[in-house]
Amino acid sequence: MNLVVLGATGSIGASTLDVAARHPERYRVFALTAHGSADQLARLCRRHRPRYAVLSSAAENAELRRAFAEFGTELVFGAGALEALAAHGETDAVMAGIVGAAGLASTLAAVRAGKRVLLANKEALVMAGPLVMRAARESGAQLLPVDSEHNAVFQCFSDAKAVRKVVLTASGGPFRAAALDSLKSVTPEQACAHPNWVMGRKISVDSATMMNKGLEVIEASFLFGLPPEKIEVLIHPQSIVHSLVEYADGSVIAQLSNPDMRVPIAHALAYPERIDSGVAPLDLAAARNLSFERPDFARFPCLGLAYDALARGGTAPAVLNAANEVAVEAFLAGRLAFTGIAGVIAETLMAVPPSAADNLEQIMEADARARSQADQRVLALAA
Ligand code: NAD
Ligand code: MG
Repeated sequence: MNLVVLGATGSIGASTLDVAARHPERYRVFALTAHGSADQLARLCRRHRPRYAVLSSAAENAELRRAFAEFGTELVFGAGALEALAAHGETDAVMAGIVGAAGLASTLAAVRAGKRVLLANKEALVMAGPLVMRAARESGAQLLPVDSEHNAVFQCFSDAKAVRKVVLTASGGPFRAAALDSLKSVTPEQACAHPNWVMGRKISVDSATMMNKGLEVIEASFLFGLPPEKIEVLIHPQSIVHSLVEYADGSVIAQLSNPDMRVPIAHALAYPERIDSGVAPLDLAAARNLSFERPDFARFPCLGLAYDALARGGTAPAVLNAANEVAVEAFLAGRLAFTGIAGVIAETLMAVPPSAADNLEQIMEADARARSQADQRVLALAA
């Protein structure tokens, strides 16, 4: 199977290449992409020898091109190449591992081309869920969730009409038990120090605010066709139960594993078969305690904002996502307090009322308006 890894230099990219390299007879790395990190991309190409590599933020550079040619890799430049390779005639499977709205176009291109799409880029589904799902139905693309909770739900899902509710588990992040008045002074380093998962910086901050879980509620609603009231969030600090599905007969089915993204990635790569992921077997006796508690919506206002945006529909989830990306970037750059993130998002949602989200143009227009509004809020708070 020819595999394209979009966002190969990220955390999901590394886990994907680790699993694929364990099964060279099944997976051939066809293309790897990175935004700007040419050296890191070159190291990956030396090791995995893809046919193509993409530097999406860079302009044509003949010297770099020659360096990659040594690995038998043709280096191409610019964001347009992401879509071209996602939809390439020889591509079989695409890992959508780019972070944020920047991953939407290439994810949609893979879906429209009818590929097997391993969906890590949850922002694409948050922004354009109905569009992506419709495109998958029309093209016959197989959309396999990689987000650990959605992969768990996918594994536990059987009779859709008998589903009473889906329960997404959340670790609660690094500030689950921190004193509330200490949150305004937390640093990016503290916010990115996740207790159970090593991830990119954006999703790490999202986990600390629990916007990550909010985005996942929206993602689950579109993926599984469920209304918000059938999607519940439960804090589970050990991150061993990845999600649960409750049925009409009272049965609750859960998926468990050690917290390592190679488990859902291996599942999505091999589905419906099962392959070795390299992850150690789960030792429940050693884990001893699996605990659950309800989330505190006052501590984590972003969670409530996401439920609201889902209920409002149309472009509201895209606006929520764009405002969150702007606020998180500002926080990571030291321009916004951690506790300012939710306020920027709430005000942006009010300033940009939801409208129809029937096509990519409408969605990207809402995304742009939300970014400009959120930028203004950040500036106003800094002043
Ligand atoms: P990361 O920051 O580690 O990696 C991001 C990748 O995207 C890099 O390869 C980077 O070069 C590329 N990229 C960044 N901006 C880009 C742009 N403008 N254009 C093209 N490429 C760009 O992020 P990650 O933690 O690997 O997360 C990737 C996606 O997977 C996110 O949507 C995240 O929510 C989702 N996800 C991640 C995890 C995890 O454990 N890391 C778990 C579940 C879901
Ligand atoms: Mg997740």
